[in-house]
Amino acid sequence: MPVPAYIQVILPLRLEWEPCYRLPEGTTVRVGDRVRVLFARKEYVGAVSAVDVQPQTDENRILPILAAEEGLPKVLPEEIKFWRAVSDYYLCSIGEVYKAAYPALKIDQEEVEARVMERLEARLERLKDKADKARRDDTRERYKAEIEAVEALLRGEKPAAVPTPVTLSPAQETAAATACKAFEDGKTVLLHGVTGSGKTEIYLKLAQETLERGRNVLFLVPEIALSRQLEDRIAAVFPDVQVFHSGVSAARRAQVASRIRKSGPYLVLGTRSALFLPHHNLGLIIVDEEHDTSYKQDAPAPRYNARESAIMLGVIQKANVVLGSATPSLESLYNAETGRFVKVDLKERFHAGEDAEIRLIDTVAERRKRGMTGSFSRKLIHEITDTLDDGGQVLVLRARRSYAPSVQCTECGKIPKCPHCHVPMSLHRGPDRLVCHYCGHTEPYTGICPSCKGELQPLGAGTQKVEEELTALFPDRRIARLDGDTPDTEEAAIIRGFAEGNIDILVGTQIITKGFDFDGLSLVAVLQADSLVGQQDFRADERAFQLLEQFRGRSGRRGKPGRIVIQTREPEHPVYTRLQGSDDADLLAERRLFGYPPYTRLVHITLKDSNEKRLEFLSKELRNALLAAFCEADTPPAVIGPYAPAVDRIAGESIRQIRVTFARNRALTSLKKTLEKTLLSFGKERKYTAHLAVDVDPV
Ligand code: ADP
Ligand code: ZN
Repeated sequence: MPVPAYIQVILPLRLEWEPCYRLPEGTTVRVGDRVRVLFARKEYVGAVSAVDVQPQTDENRILPILAAEEGLPKVLPEEIKFWRAVSDYYLCSIGEVYKAAYPALKIDQEEVEARVMERLEARLERLKDKADKARRDDTRERYKAEIEAVEALLRGEKPAAVPTPVTLSPAQETAAATACKAFEDGKTVLLHGVTGSGKTEIYLKLAQETLERGRNVLFLVPEIALSRQLEDRIAAVFPDVQVFHSGVSAARRAQVASRIRKSGPYLVLGTRSALFLPHHNLGLIIVDEEHDTSYKQDAPAPRYNARESAIMLGVIQKANVVLGSATPSLESLYNAETGRFVKVDLKERFHAGEDAEIRLIDTVAERRKRGMTGSFSRKLIHEITDTLDDGGQVLVLRARRSYAPSVQCTECGKIPKCPHCHVPMSLHRGPDRLVCHYCGHTEPYTGICPSCKGELQPLGAGTQKVEEELTALFPDRRIARLDGDTPDTEEAAIIRGFAEGNIDILVGTQIITKGFDFDGLSLVAVLQADSLVGQQDFRADERAFQLLEQFRGRSGRRGKPGRIVIQTREPEHPVYTRLQGSDDADLLAERRLFGYPPYTRLVHITLKDSNEKRLEFLSKELRNALLAAFCEADTPPAVIGPYAPAVDRIAGESIRQIRVTFARNRALTSLKKTLEKTLLSFGKERKYTAHLAVDVDPV
């Protein structure tokens, strides 16, 4: 009788082990093959992670696989390596990473083809339009070359040659050379360049060189909006750019995967999930806007950060990695300081221009002087009027969508809260309703207090109210709003409208900063900037700074310097001082002093339960289990909590958090393992696994 063969399989589940299966006689599979199996009486498609294994359990209890999935793409060994690296670092199961990398798909191949053609045709239209509008002969020639390349792609051919070589300015040339030198030393490059310095040109140059060497390129951006903007720029250098993000259909994404699996050289432009494509022979990974928190996946697991993961992928693929930003994350600055990264600076803008001027308006003082009209100070109204009269455009940032962030009863003082979450509900107009921004719960708004039947009154002003105020202040101007309430279908039209100068004032939440490049933007006004900075969270200040700096980079490009007016109750706040030119080193020093990341590593454990008593009890038990597990360590991590976060009930579930702070030393990896083991056994013994979530390096 032949000896049965056993294999190990990765399943798309939160499982800390890879189960073993028997191969039926006559079936052979290899590592990376996909197999259909039963687990806990359910069918799954798994990926074979090892063959010819010795079963650890009773052989009679090992199930045979149901079938080898011949039709499905094979997983590359490097992919499995990458999944392991991610699951080790982020303390999740490899199955959760597999699930993120290979979501179950239903694909209509014909639809895929049609979509690809549609995209290319749209690009062709844009190019023809640009060629028609081009005033210079050489520009027109360049567009013609690109048009031919796209037409070749439409005919199903490979485009002949790269149409436009990238020419760098001397400063950019030096930066690129420094980067290449660092790559030779095996270092990750942190490209710190002010907005408009031409970081993108440098990426393109590096990408081009990599492709010429026959190696592949992954270009990561934090947001879909940014990818749309970059697509044409990249296509000018590499017409066959593959775009991959959640805005492309599942079918198209599957096609990108099969495309790069088969052929090279390829260049993928995508958001964080593009890391999990079946990459091979990668020569370069670009992480643009590396500080952006969109790179972090909050839920579900894997709760990974694409910036750190890109570095892991770079090691596995032996690829160069370049991170770029005008406002690098403190994490990356720290890595540059310790010599793990090489920092390359680009201090001048390509189109020389002065930095935007920053003006702070103290709203407390203004209010005292009766200088405020609703949300606007009289000084700001003047600035807006002058700008508009001068033919400029204005962007108004208010960090809260809604008409009013909350409402209050004028009789009894009650503030209606979400029945499922411990937060006030926001008032939204048209139709009037109260909305919970945490769980989406919505109630019709009657204006009558539910407890005393008194009258409800809006408190504060969200974007809708600000828009209304602006309409009253500037009745002849074209005003638009862009926030989370804007339908997806209208978003693009609003952005285009502003870019083309058909909108004078655009009001919105942070969404309005995402990668938009507006020529006519001369004034940015930030209302209630206090809602952006320092509320308990030490990371909020960093994010506020990055946001404001982003604004500075985007206003008044090409030509006149722009202006930024910030209305705040706290003009002395360090975020504004830093914006006016103090050093990044100060911030790092502060983090070091207080033992915050990047000088330490944080892990957040979140517990959620609809039963608050049980939650209270088990959170404390978990804390005790962790303390016990770490008590032998030389440098035990600090375990804080359990505590209730600022919003401690969301969607009917109460929330507790435990924060574990590790020193960054050699014991870190093993202590993280201890943490993971403790959580696993705690979850299993208390049947509480489903209530636990771990977040490594939370943002
Ligand atoms: P960043 O990515 O650093 O914000 P960009 O790469 O977008 O900067 O460059 C800003 C502007 O300057 C863009 O309009 C870009 O086309 C132009 N630019 C930058 N470098 C060059 C170059 N070497 N040749 C031509 N144009 C350039
Ligand atoms: Zn709610």
